[in-house]
Amino acid sequence: MKKIGITGGIGSGKTTVARVFEQLGIPVYHADYWAKEIMNTEPLVIERLKELFGKDIYDSAGKANRKRIAELVFADKNKLNELNSIIHPAVWLHGENWLKSRSTAGPYILKEAAILFESGGNKDMDKVIMVSAPIEIRLERVMKRDNATREEVTARMANQWPDEQKIALSDFVIVNDDRQLVIPQVLEVHRVLTEKG
Ligand code: ATP
Repeated sequence: MKKIGITGGIGSGKTTVARVFEQLGIPVYHADYWAKEIMNTEPLVIERLKELFGKDIYDSAGKANRKRIAELVFADKNKLNELNSIIHPAVWLHGENWLKSRSTAGPYILKEAAILFESGGNKDMDKVIMVSAPIEIRLERVMKRDNATREEVTARMANQWPDEQKIALSDFVIVNDDRQLVIPQVLEVHRVLTEKG
């Protein structure tokens, strides 16, 4: 069973593209979604986040204030590194178990993660698919989706590698620029990944 990473910068459309693979019956682990879940459910992670950011980073319902966490780590690179060192191993472990439990069906499984290369997670993958789109389109998509300002989105992009660097290390590139059709590109990647040998 091949493990395939799917990545792309913020607003590239990697979740949207991953959903097309899901329609083809491929199991997809959405690492960014699970990272948010784990923050609110994994006792050891909750304890360490309280140590790092203070107890009131969780509300009375036990939900982490992610907006506040984002502000705190944006102002302090050490805190960002510590946050990553808490979240990434927990998500990695959760992802491994999730993928193992689904690895009996189908020719390959996908792991979708925004910072697959930045976190070194690409090394655990057999192949990597990069979803790419021009920065201006990505900015506009995220401003609309998250009701965010240009400055907020640009700041989030600054923590990610540029597309060119990631494309050079990827096995497949899917261009999601609102011009090229996405589904034929997905079908072609799927065809290659399901070939024998
Ligand atoms: P993030 O890293 O922020 O999670 P992402 O790379 O997973 O972003 P998506 O959430 O898939 O990106 O897409 C960003 C926004 O752009 C969404 O609102 C999505 O519906 C829209 N979008 C993405 N691709 C397309 C497309 N081909 N056509 C129309 N809308 C699109």
